[in-house]
Amino acid sequence: MIQTIEASPDEIYDIELEHSLLEANAQLAKENRALLDRHGVTAVDVMGAIGSGKTTLIGRLVERLKDRFGVAVFNGDATTSSDADLIANQSVPVVQIATINGCHLDANLVGKALQKISLEQLRLVFIENIGNLICPAEFPLGSKARVVVVSVTEGPYMVRKHPHMFLGAQLVVINKIDLAEAMGVSVAELTKDVHKLKPDLRVIPTSCKTGDGLDEVTAALLAV
Ligand code: MG
Ligand code: ZN
Repeated sequence: MIQTIEASPDEIYDIELEHSLLEANAQLAKENRALLDRHGVTAVDVMGAIGSGKTTLIGRLVERLKDRFGVAVFNGDATTSSDADLIANQSVPVVQIATINGCHLDANLVGKALQKISLEQLRLVFIENIGNLICPAEFPLGSKARVVVVSVTEGPYMVRKHPHMFLGAQLVVINKIDLAEAMGVSVAELTKDVHKLKPDLRVIPTSCKTGDGLDEVTAALLAV
């Protein structure tokens, strides 16, 4: 037999604090967005679990876009700079946002990162969030589109266990589809789970290894 307890709102002691924190974040996100809009820059933030392939996906997209217009990347990372180092190899501006064990990026940190780069020659900024499928959903950053990356290696339940993540997204990438058969995970079922939550949410299956779906993701991001 399974028993369940559930926190009720009056048991969450920090609720007042949390409310004003989220409000302050939302305001800063608006300011980030206004700054980006003034410069004609689109920011896209990429969320997903550790190991879903966010950095590799961003790297592939940067490869495709950097010769066409200015692209920059912000790498949120709780502890390491390995992702930022990888992207920096492509000679595009990279800002590592070290959250020092913080589990999500917020609009304040992104605002500080925006001060570090020149927005003049830029058209697109990729913001890689911390590998986490829970709280990044609560913290808008000022981006025009939020992308969620799930990979078939994470098993069949990633979508249904993290509804908020998907409800706030404009694009879902189902990554590592070259491994779907080996993992026994159905891309069609994952897609169905997404559409149960949000029927019109675009889902693009990809493999950064074979290149499948990357043209579609590129086109989708250019259209936001
Ligand atoms: Mg990464
Ligand atoms: Zn968090």
